[in-house]
Amino acid sequence: MANTLISSVPDCPPEAPRDCPRCTRLVAFRDASAAANPGWFNGAVPSFGADAARLLIVGLAPGLKGANRTGRPFTGDYAGDLLYSTLLAFGFARGTYRADPKDGLQLVDCMITNAVRCVPPGNKPLPQEITSCRAYFSSRLAHLPRLRAMVALGRVAHDQTLATLGVRKALYPFKHGARHEIGQVVLFDSLHCSRLNTNTGRLTTAMFHDVFRDVRAFLDQDHGTPRR
Ligand code: SF4
Repeated sequence: MANTLISSVPDCPPEAPRDCPRCTRLVAFRDASAAANPGWFNGAVPSFGADAARLLIVGLAPGLKGANRTGRPFTGDYAGDLLYSTLLAFGFARGTYRADPKDGLQLVDCMITNAVRCVPPGNKPLPQEITSCRAYFSSRLAHLPRLRAMVALGRVAHDQTLATLGVRKALYPFKHGARHEIGQVVLFDSLHCSRLNTNTGRLTTAMFHDVFRDVRAFLDQDHGTPRR
């Protein structure tokens, strides 16, 4: 079942195959990681959460020692510590986060995905890699029939979302705490919850919580939607 945000369901599945071959540089990086760390996931990391979710959180890409290692978005590195504790605090997750895909943590009315599904060197995907992975992102959006809110974690996630929705970037500038109404969804912007941003003080826990407090309030007031 598709939503109406994307005009037609893309001819592409919402999840990339683990060994997706589209990006030569990223495939080589994955392969090098697999050779050095054969016990790691080392593939295109699938989204986490159910298709019935109203909230989609969009990260940049798997971290080398985080999602690329564990196979679950934001799991196993610092960014995940802040993200999952925040989701638990605002009712978007239940259980206990133990930085392990087998920790039993469940997302509530929420899905987490990445703008780029494979780990890029230096956490920096190239423009053509972002474009290549857009087919999966577009399909991911199309397969969320109840989608009402998105959180873009950083500018790459924000820009990938706007490009996928086919709207002009100039109309929706990225800014931490911004809220953009785009068709049937509201896009909330946040700085990425990376260690770099938090260690430098660009992003505090309070600033991050403020974004999710806004999302919680929006979804709780959203008319005609089932309660949690
Ligand atoms: S980044 Fe996306 S398009 Fe590129 S190889 Fe990985 S899954 Fe495929």
